[in-house]
Amino acid sequence: MSERKVRVRFAPSPTGALHIGGVRTALYNYLFAKQHGGDLVFRIEDTDSHRFVPGAEEYIIESFKWLGIHFDEGVSFGGNYGPYRQSERRDIYKKYVKQLLDKGKAYIAFDTPDELDTKRKEIANFQYDASTRMSMRNSLTLSKEEVDTMIAEGKQYVVRFLIEPNQEICVNDLIRGEVKINSSILDDKVLYKSADELPTYHLANIVDDHLMEISHVIRGEEWLPSAPLHVLLYKAFGWESSMPEFAHLPLLLKPEGNGKLSKRDGDRLGFPVFPLEWHDPKTGEISKGYREEGYLPEALLNFLALLGWNPGDDREILSMDELVHLFNLSHCNRSGAKYDYHKCIWFNHQYIQKVSDEEITDLFMPLLKEKGINVPYNKAKDIVGMMKERVNFVKDLWDVCAFFFVAPESYDEKTVRKRWKEYSAEQMKELSEVIASLDDFSIENQEKTVMDWIAAKGYNTGDVMNAFRLTLVGEGKGPHMFNITSILGKEETLMRMKRAIDVLK
Ligand code: GLU
Repeated sequence: MSERKVRVRFAPSPTGALHIGGVRTALYNYLFAKQHGGDLVFRIEDTDSHRFVPGAEEYIIESFKWLGIHFDEGVSFGGNYGPYRQSERRDIYKKYVKQLLDKGKAYIAFDTPDELDTKRKEIANFQYDASTRMSMRNSLTLSKEEVDTMIAEGKQYVVRFLIEPNQEICVNDLIRGEVKINSSILDDKVLYKSADELPTYHLANIVDDHLMEISHVIRGEEWLPSAPLHVLLYKAFGWESSMPEFAHLPLLLKPEGNGKLSKRDGDRLGFPVFPLEWHDPKTGEISKGYREEGYLPEALLNFLALLGWNPGDDREILSMDELVHLFNLSHCNRSGAKYDYHKCIWFNHQYIQKVSDEEITDLFMPLLKEKGINVPYNKAKDIVGMMKERVNFVKDLWDVCAFFFVAPESYDEKTVRKRWKEYSAEQMKELSEVIASLDDFSIENQEKTVMDWIAAKGYNTGDVMNAFRLTLVGEGKGPHMFNITSILGKEETLMRMKRAIDVLK
């Protein structure tokens, strides 16, 4: 790699919610920048005003905030290469469009949509290129006076890139190697439209990558077909020496079958394809988000990191620091990565175990509040610590923990039939006396005292413990008995036992 400072960018168009594939692209850029001590730039590519969706930019920014992906500069982050929103860079693009025109690398075309349609009907597979441009209405076929007059009259025009036919264009891709194409397959792409005085994606993208001193363009495979054109644009400007290196990431594929992962796959199979819940301002449709579904950002990022890249061995749980250290574009796959959302759930389970009990408790407390449960933080934390291994999502904690907060009002019939013997009420009465007499309510002391009592009485341990569990939990599930009692406390334990004895007899 050259001496050049690593500068990469994530450059979404604000056309809706951020797709999960975009999150992966941003993540790979982030890892690459961090690894090389480089900069990550956040640029908004909003030159296509027809596709602009209000709220999309804010949504994207909030998504990265939640994910913990920090940009060094860009829209909302500041920096020395701004403005970073393309709609605020019109004058810059105009200057560069003029440069191409002056150099004869681009030309002005007046063909109306109707005229283009007529041509398409006349000529099979019509393409605006070397074979057709001399029969169109443009500054190559009209006199300078005619062109000037038409512009002065306010006629709409576009600026097209003049592509020389039959040149070999080579894109050096860090993942795919050399990708070669013949320039004859390209059309004279529109670079600028007088109608809205804005450049198209291609011109703005290249000018900005150049001016923002981008060293590596890491983006989705769907942009690979644009890359040869981008290489030609760099050459047309005379910027070959500052051309970034390219890396086109593999597609994310449907969980089953072939084809690109779409939002419909998520809807059909019940998983989100957006980081945050998205309220479509046009249709009013609400789409699920990973955040609202209860995923931890760390888990989602770890899952995404391995979709299209691997560390060279079979390690799967990798912290952000490890990912930054290990990430390598040459270990990215060329073929698409199947979107295995079951694996994402697995990652979430792993991360619930991995992150601190505090982090999980912070997420659980609001859910408890919603249920009307007022409980000291530390008690909730103890419960979370004990129960988190049983869940994939924080929201599922309620189902497995509810009995800690709400005493059973009824007792599971099946468990009663199996576990509540004719002598259980008597044994529980005795056991509650044993428990009542305990001064030291530590888990160790409870366990020792109760076991000694069982042994002295010659009772069956299983019988006693199963009935005991039923009195406290209301069913046959839950963690170790004395973990339960120590959280409930002596008083609550005795109350629950008394009530069960009264009800079950
Ligand atoms: N604006 C493009 C997008 O929405 C960026 C493509 C690129 O990274 O060059 O993904």
